[in-house]
Amino acid sequence: MIDVSRRNFLKTTAGAAGLCLIGPSAVVQGLTAEPGQAAGRLLPFPLASVRLGTGIFKEQEEINARYLDSLAVDRLLHTFRLTAGISSSATPYKGWEDPTCELRGHFAGGHYLSGVALASAGSGNSVLKGRGDELVAGLDACQKKIGNRYLSAYPSDLFEHLAQGKSVWAPFYTYHKIMAGLLDMYLLTGNSDALRIAEGMGQWAQDYFVGISIEQRQHMLRTEYGGMNEVLVNLAAVTKNERYIDAAHLFEQPSFLDPLAGRRDELQGLHANTHVPKIIGAARMYEVTGERRYREIAEYFLGEVLAARCYAIGNTSLGEHWGTAPGKLGGTLEWTNAECCVAYNLMKLERLVFGWTGDTRWMDAYERSLFNCRLGTQNAQGLKQYFFPLAAGYWRIYNSPEESFWCCTGSGVEEFAKFADTIYFHRGSDVFVNQFLASTLDWKDEGLVVEQVTDFPREQGTTLKIKASRPGPRTIHIRIPGWTSEEASVKINGRALEAVADPGSYLAIRRNWQAGDTIAVSLPMELRQEPLAGDDSIAAALYGPLVLAADLGAAPTDEAFRVMHSGDTVPKKLPAADPLPKVAADPAAKTGGWIEVESKTDLRFKAAGASAKYELMPMYRIADQRYSVYWQTESAKKQS
Ligand SMILES: [Zn+2]
Repeated sequence: MIDVSRRNFLKTTAGAAGLCLIGPSAVVQGLTAEPGQAAGRLLPFPLASVRLGTGIFKEQEEINARYLDSLAVDRLLHTFRLTAGISSSATPYKGWEDPTCELRGHFAGGHYLSGVALASAGSGNSVLKGRGDELVAGLDACQKKIGNRYLSAYPSDLFEHLAQGKSVWAPFYTYHKIMAGLLDMYLLTGNSDALRIAEGMGQWAQDYFVGISIEQRQHMLRTEYGGMNEVLVNLAAVTKNERYIDAAHLFEQPSFLDPLAGRRDELQGLHANTHVPKIIGAARMYEVTGERRYREIAEYFLGEVLAARCYAIGNTSLGEHWGTAPGKLGGTLEWTNAECCVAYNLMKLERLVFGWTGDTRWMDAYERSLFNCRLGTQNAQGLKQYFFPLAAGYWRIYNSPEESFWCCTGSGVEEFAKFADTIYFHRGSDVFVNQFLASTLDWKDEGLVVEQVTDFPREQGTTLKIKASRPGPRTIHIRIPGWTSEEASVKINGRALEAVADPGSYLAIRRNWQAGDTIAVSLPMELRQEPLAGDDSIAAALYGPLVLAADLGAAPTDEAFRVMHSGDTVPKKLPAADPLPKVAADPAAKTGGWIEVESKTDLRFKAAGASAKYELMPMYRIADQRYSVYWQTESAKKQS
């Protein structure tokens, strides 16, 4: 196992992992000095400091909250109670929460808790906070009844099956979700019982795992274990108890980490969503222990996956795996692309790595995923997608409200409750404006209130209104995205700045800000195309950060093709994909000269020339249509 120096442990604690602490400080006593200790690092604001304003993200947040509100605590607790020997007459949920499913509890006692904790902190939803408190009390009773600090909705026998090499799904994966949900309830809502329960679970996991030989442990770690290392590091940061660092190290795999430390992409054949969380854990290990090797692993991994393994939408994988050599995505466009959980986890990693450097590339990537493979993957009933089909002619399909409970249902209810968590970061008294979402930042410690007013991306820019600011100079940094043009401009109180930072950097504006000041940012979008890695004849069309999709007509209306009423993730009798739509475009060109803008404000586009029959729109607005994200290009020369 890796021998990690402890010298720096506890110098930096909560870090940028979403461990945003809420007030009052007494709730999280001992960690309130944390931001100052992480000198030089950019940190997110507590979720409670940022509120979404009217707009598409606020609408999606509210839809998600209604879905969370539709679920009953007694039903969520049912299998936990049965496992603990507590009677329950509640009707169990189905799919991956069915009483016979080996993943049961992952959503009911894990993602659900994280979702309601995030909704509570992010939008002040007291009803959902109450649900979370009720669920924590129920889980507390179960853990006490079991009596050895273990807690899950299935008996610990499943871990024995794992140890014995018997077939079992992923017991540690589920265990992680429950611990993470409890920790979120503590950090985001101040429920101290939740921390006690999570600590008990951490101690059980350590005691259990440390008693197993290294060889057997490494064998067990070949089965998906979620972010066990991450949640144990987070527990160490919160409790300042080093034993959880020891426990986190038990969940490390040199066979996976060592090639990455050597900057080698040996990801082919690996399951994507099993492995991204391990890197999030490594990133947190760097933040908490200061051990630089973990940072190098995380930075290399993220850069490599984004550059060599991602599709235009900002997500990766086929059939949940990395099936090819790096940079070889030709022939991989199918129904089972880009599992939504992977986007969720890549975004978590991007915001961590961003905090170390302030490099816009990570926030550009975050934006790409946010607008193309998170926005749009929830329908009007709050139901979520699993795969993101990228073959032509397919459509979106969602989980049923009570019969699926996929992993992506779970990561989705979290994502759609925390859109506000990455819009702004800070370093010292400086503010970083990372994302263009209508919102208000209320930074009480600094006496700063900033309202961001925007209809982005229907509006190509944003306006920041200073509502209050303590006297004295302060720097506001604004992301000038890599996708904008040299025409980007900024006006302060109506007067244009003479120079604006280059696309792909932060513009720093330092002055004595006063209430009433405004910063108007114009970020022109341009059409362009991006080839599929490894096949230059296939390209996606983009406009600013938006991937454009061709509207290929109505999706099937048959219920079986729109909502999955089971734990299955792919509909039965799926028709073959269409051929990619063809366009006369120069594959080597970067500009999307074969697309025309019909309306900037309505975001309507059409293909030009021989392909003029195709209408395009931002992928996030595709709801009930069959679509294509990719195009088969034919050079003008070949056409003639
Ligand atoms: Zn998933």
